[in-house]
Amino acid sequence: MLTGMKITEAVDGLRQKKFSAEELTKAHVNAINTLNDRINAYITVTADAAIEQAKAADQKLAAGDAPALTGIPLAIKDLFCTKGVKTTAASRILENFVPPYESTVTANLLRDGAVFLGKVNLDEFAMGSGNLNSAFGAVENPWKRQGEDTFLVPGGSSGGSAAAVAAQMAMGATGTDTGGSIRQPAAYCGITGIKPTYGRCSRWGIIAYASSLDQAGPMGKSVEDCAIVLQSMAGFDPKDSTSVDKEVPDYRAACNRSLKGMKVGIPMEYRAPGLSPEIEAVWQQGINWLKEAGCEIVDVSLPHTKYGLATYYIIAPAEASSNLARYDGVRYGRRVEGASLDELYANTRGAGFGDEVKRRILMGTYVLSAGYYDAYYLRAQKVRKLIYQDFMNVFDKVDVLLTPTAPTAAFAKGENQEDPVQMYLNDIFTVPASMAGVPGLALPAGLSSQGLPLGLQLLGRPFGEETLFAVGSAMEKAANFTHKPTLRAGGSL
Ligand code: GLN
Repeated sequence: MLTGMKITEAVDGLRQKKFSAEELTKAHVNAINTLNDRINAYITVTADAAIEQAKAADQKLAAGDAPALTGIPLAIKDLFCTKGVKTTAASRILENFVPPYESTVTANLLRDGAVFLGKVNLDEFAMGSGNLNSAFGAVENPWKRQGEDTFLVPGGSSGGSAAAVAAQMAMGATGTDTGGSIRQPAAYCGITGIKPTYGRCSRWGIIAYASSLDQAGPMGKSVEDCAIVLQSMAGFDPKDSTSVDKEVPDYRAACNRSLKGMKVGIPMEYRAPGLSPEIEAVWQQGINWLKEAGCEIVDVSLPHTKYGLATYYIIAPAEASSNLARYDGVRYGRRVEGASLDELYANTRGAGFGDEVKRRILMGTYVLSAGYYDAYYLRAQKVRKLIYQDFMNVFDKVDVLLTPTAPTAAFAKGENQEDPVQMYLNDIFTVPASMAGVPGLALPAGLSSQGLPLGLQLLGRPFGEETLFAVGSAMEKAANFTHKPTLRAGGSL
């Protein structure tokens, strides 16, 4: 089945003329047509444009002038502006927004020949951990608990990206990660994803959530697939002042590096309360695999981890409240008229934003307000520096850290939602790396007793993506995770 392949296999198959790019894209469009009504991964499907792009890819392949991703069908998180294609951020306020420009990351992918199948669902403005906050409805995780048909969440905010890849409705996807939005959905859907170092991929043209944390990255079926896609997404961009002018290494080559003599840190603070015993067992399994691969295991401490969530949920809403001030109904997006300008703002924002977005704007405005700025925002920034320093201290001693990605497997719609804070607790293992700006790779490592994927996370030094790809590849071989979800192209609905 064409939709069952990895990108590495498709790249070879296309070049050996085993199938055409048009066939490959059409197979994915068929999968979307069959599955999307149920899974709701795509907000917008651009099937006709995709088939045109695929035909152009076939011509390039025939001419022997085909860059790395020629003819590879991808799903794009609906937070990346795509020229002439509706970009909603899963919000009513941008319901009919058609950007006149292309984000740098998606432009890079197009330059390298990728085919875009459409725009995929997310939590509104990337705020959430279950993809339950989308104005276009929840996304169903293609995985099921054994013998049950309960609706499980795909994780968030890049839930549409993760579900699309897991259900074989795309070969890979773009995601963004502000506090875990690539890594946690990857874990819940049994796929791989990497949040690169802050500054590695340009943020230009990505709808902003929290600018000092937002980072784009790939989600895919294997470590090597992610390496190939990141290779294309990454790079310096003068249009993003925080993009770093550093050469992009050969990530694919890094996947084959030996791990001999490498030091792997196990941070004791990640043995947190609420960690499922099954995930703890998978974590131990991961430690054993890396030992067998020749790594030395070192216990380390990141003492400020315990402040990660509290400070993240000050800084991210603060930046969000400022970034979202631009949605005022005046220049673009939805407008709801009012008798005065103030009323127009209030009506527009009242109707355009969902509850979670409003909650974040309220929190953010509060922590930035004159009387509380020093007590909350400024103090959180100081603690953030300490969290960063923790990582730098341990990276003097070890090359990489191994941790769980999320405290549990995918949860059901309705669970974890008694109050908003409970949802925030999901991000406990992913937020610290975001606060420090260091790269993190999530990959599937085992199944729960209920048959759901469980993920592990590797954290590296700033711009240490190659190490993550090397260690991740070795773990992937050892884990040999070949399980597939119930809902997928060719699977049984
Ligand atoms: N779940 C986190 C939040 O709601 C992270 C989201 C993200 O990384 N975009 O803020």
